[in-house]
Amino acid sequence: MPEAVFDDDCAEAPSAWGVRRLSPLARVGRAALDVVLPPLCLSCQTRITAHDALCPACWRQINFIRPPLCDRMGLPMPFDIGGPMLSAAAIADPPDFDRARAVARFDGLMRELIHAFKFHDSHNARRLFGRWLVEAGQEILKDADLLVAVPLARWRLISRRFNQAQILAIETGKQAHKPVRPFALVRTRATAHQIGLTRA
Ligand SMILES: [Zn+2]
Repeated sequence: MPEAVFDDDCAEAPSAWGVRRLSPLARVGRAALDVVLPPLCLSCQTRITAHDALCPACWRQINFIRPPLCDRMGLPMPFDIGGPMLSAAAIADPPDFDRARAVARFDGLMRELIHAFKFHDSHNARRLFGRWLVEAGQEILKDADLLVAVPLARWRLISRRFNQAQILAIETGKQAHKPVRPFALVRTRATAHQIGLTRA
């Protein structure tokens, strides 16, 4: 699954905070739901106008990765030459994958949202993450036949209870209208926790 991506132009537009077109019946249902469960910012719980979204103050804390990007690695580039370009890193040491995109830098509030999603069974952000992934990964998604998720080792699945990559693949597939094969890959060896590892 493409993991993150280029930024979205609508990153600061109110529509990106979660407003979607709903049928009249769905609007009535949603209005009733809003009375019982008013939409709250997924991070600071401030009352906002749309579900599955962040308040503007939290939104501004996300360091979205915006174009121009290295076409291969998705790294931000200092200038735009008006077409696909490769970073020095992609040329010097080409990665095994063809193309990668990322939503945002893994720091600050983004790190907190991901840790809550990954380790605390807090999957409230899945629709928001799905929207971000569809935006950031649109170049890759348009050519994709299907989405697969990186599997977890069995023992880790038991301790974590969910495979969060699978949840994101399913959500991204739903929003991008792409088929998802959550069990297409099988992990044949366990790998170390990322936590505590160095960048290398
Ligand atoms: Zn907030």
